[in-house]
Amino acid sequence: MNRNLIFACLIVLQSNVFLFSQNDDDAFYIKEIYNYSLSDAKTYEYLRGLCKDVGPRLSGSAGAATGVEYVKTNLEALNLDRVYKVECMVPHWEHHNASKVSLDIDGKEMQLNCTPLGNSVSTNGKIITGKIIEVKHLDSLEKLGKDQIEGNIVFFNRPMDPTLLSTGHAYGAAVDQRVYGPTKAAKFGAKATLVRSMTTLIDDLPHTGVTVYDSIYKIPALAISTKDAEYLSDQIEKDPNVQISVFSDAENFEKKLSHSVVGEIKGSDFPDEIILVGGHLDSWDLGEGAHDDGTGCAQSMAVLETLKSMNYKPKRTIRCVLFMNEENGLAGGLSYAKQSNDLGEKHIAAIESDGGGFTPRGFSCTAEESVFIEHFKTLNTLFEPLESYDLYLKKGGGGADINPLKSQQGILIGLRVDNARYFDLHHTAADVLENVNQRELELGAAAMTSLVYLIDQYGI
Ligand SMILES: [Zn+2]
Repeated sequence: MNRNLIFACLIVLQSNVFLFSQNDDDAFYIKEIYNYSLSDAKTYEYLRGLCKDVGPRLSGSAGAATGVEYVKTNLEALNLDRVYKVECMVPHWEHHNASKVSLDIDGKEMQLNCTPLGNSVSTNGKIITGKIIEVKHLDSLEKLGKDQIEGNIVFFNRPMDPTLLSTGHAYGAAVDQRVYGPTKAAKFGAKATLVRSMTTLIDDLPHTGVTVYDSIYKIPALAISTKDAEYLSDQIEKDPNVQISVFSDAENFEKKLSHSVVGEIKGSDFPDEIILVGGHLDSWDLGEGAHDDGTGCAQSMAVLETLKSMNYKPKRTIRCVLFMNEENGLAGGLSYAKQSNDLGEKHIAAIESDGGGFTPRGFSCTAEESVFIEHFKTLNTLFEPLESYDLYLKKGGGGADINPLKSQQGILIGLRVDNARYFDLHHTAADVLENVNQRELELGAAAMTSLVYLIDQYGI
């Protein structure tokens, strides 16, 4: 980022931190929300259940189906006005941890830490062996052309940029290799693809994530750990003809019926104005889907649990939605929005937590500049009782699951967190309960509940 751009960003950030006098009742209520969230709320218990009793919740798996029942039962226990499921057809993809990537170094087999990418195809029970072509960018494939790629194994090895302050931006700038690299390499005749894991950390954990094929070009695609990506790159430099063997046991099955789950407290004055809080219920199958996105689900459920336990009677309808299939298809977000549009509903605001259960920094929101300045600066003021957390709203995105609600022209909001450590764990076997800090998780739930309360009180 150049210096002018950094300066411009700083001005935008500062202009969004407003200082206004606060309303005493709101200050009192928000403090009560924090008191409950940090003492008696069930946020961590919800997350513990999702991670330890349910476990990984890959779309189409038995775990995902158990997850649906788990959140439904827990929402029903809150005595809400309505709890229901919304159908969606999800991909059903599996692998069985037998995939292997190995190098032949002077007759010695060196195994690399790998995992198949989500939705990827298998090697059909065979081991594919070949020469490796290392590239950093998708464009490099055109430069090399079919002559150099055909019959070989393409290795995408562009690291996430550690100098970008937002790890989310660094991820966004590197993830094209994983999402579109394999199908593009297939068009040039590659027979398999390896992709460097999406993290700034150099370690042994392979990070999975979705790859998207076009309808014709499908070749096996696997992630390897960053440490092994560096090792592999070194070996190619020593011997450009070094041979690699790839075996993938990934399998795609017929689509399956699955569900998102909704819990609702009906509004007293404006029942047709919906305020949504949500996260995604599905996860990858390597860990427990703790930060991605058990924390967002637990926090969203805790918003309703907290308001109920405080005996709060909302003016507007408040809904918690646990979406299915964000990771490899977005079927839950799309079917929820379709059903909502068909019913002529209006979401005035939707808040998604899908950046990990880390310390909250505030919210990003899609509001028009005029709305943002006139209205949200007041909300910023109301966050003042939370002095030490310096929460504030800034312009930005909402979240993948709530984006399909854009046509209803409400405001889409994302919980912003300190994301420095998120991509150390994201889509790995280390995304487990033990790597979530209870207090950080609860602070996020408290921030979400407070914002829901303020939007309920003042509208948009
Ligand atoms: Zn997620």
